[in-house]
Amino acid sequence: MDSIYKRLGVPTLINATGPATRLSGSLLPAEVTEAMKEASQYCVDMTELQARASQIIAEITGAEAGYVTSGAAAALLLGTAACVAGLDPSRMSQLPDTRGMKNEVIIVRSQRNSYDHAVRSVGIRLIEVGLPDRFSGAGVRDAEAWEIADAITERTAAVYYVATLRALPSLEEVVQVCRSREVPVLVDAAGQLPPASNLKKFIDQGADLVAFSGGKAIRGPQSTGILCGRKDFISSAALQHLDLDVVDELWQPSDHLIDRGQLPGIPHNGIGRPCKVGKEEIVGLLTAIRLFVDQDPAIRKAEWMRLLGALVESAGVLGRGELSLVEQPEGSEVPQVELKLLQDEGLSAMSLLRALQESRPSIQANPSRVREGILIFSPQCLRDEDPAIIGQRLRALLSK
Ligand SMILES: *Cc1c(COP(=O)(O)O)cnc(C)c1O
Repeated sequence: MDSIYKRLGVPTLINATGPATRLSGSLLPAEVTEAMKEASQYCVDMTELQARASQIIAEITGAEAGYVTSGAAAALLLGTAACVAGLDPSRMSQLPDTRGMKNEVIIVRSQRNSYDHAVRSVGIRLIEVGLPDRFSGAGVRDAEAWEIADAITERTAAVYYVATLRALPSLEEVVQVCRSREVPVLVDAAGQLPPASNLKKFIDQGADLVAFSGGKAIRGPQSTGILCGRKDFISSAALQHLDLDVVDELWQPSDHLIDRGQLPGIPHNGIGRPCKVGKEEIVGLLTAIRLFVDQDPAIRKAEWMRLLGALVESAGVLGRGELSLVEQPEGSEVPQVELKLLQDEGLSAMSLLRALQESRPSIQANPSRVREGILIFSPQCLRDEDPAIIGQRLRALLSK
């Protein structure tokens, strides 16, 4: 059967990069697409659907509450907006103009990244702290907890912390300095899955809010994410995200998500309203996350190893490069194949990457280490037939 993409005239590609947004995220399990199809055939009250999502996410993450967003970046925007506006409708309506509000967010300088635009878009100013001299060659230090403590003022709305294996200071240390000053900690854990235990870890360590991507390892719809954490912040995020074109006398949001009694009035459509999430996406994400936490990690890993093993076998011995199957790459639970080009063979990793990209179908290897002469192949978004196609292509390009 022709795929929908063939009918549209858009070529599909072999995604050996992993669930990158520009390459359309992950491949959805059939249960997820079935659930989305079913969800699309009924109408529901979106606040009730998000309230139920909140309970399910709370149960899975151990947080007080949760919310389905249109991606981890949207979760960062909403989480920041919640820290700035709290449950004050007039503040919500004023954003991104933050005059008169706490409008500074502290970030460790080495954690600056292209997604912090989502945090900045709320109208706050990022306050960078620390000297990341462990990246300079000479140094051994990064930001330290006392420097974060030093940067906290009455204008501090939150600390934005990007969780990675080697992030410094540790989240626990950051939480410790923030707790005593009542400054919330917003954690970007977009790419920290698997292991599934990380769904609970950052909340356990004391984060007030945590953002995850739904379209990466969870294998939910590409345009989904999760925000979980303190109930008052999740309420604020919901109020700044849901469509609030409502009539006062008729509006009865679920208590679990929004406590009307706490609100002096109903805010207008908020700063998060452009990050709309559809019912199909919410249902898809809830289905995907359940599958993700229920799946035995050993089975998931065996499936990845099978795909990568098939790739290596199909490529055979390459005259101009060496393939190795790395079962446990540093900082990742996902095995990968690494291809190192033999230097004296005069082919650059960049030109090989380009040749693969220009193959038909296009093969997209992970370029993150191309400047070291290494191409990475991830199993996460490979279809069953892909390893053999990649292997044959590598053989054609790299035989002597
Ligand atoms: C992928 C990623 C994001 C963005 O996630 P989306 O779900 O695509 O919005 C944010 N932060 C980090 C660290 C990421 O890896």
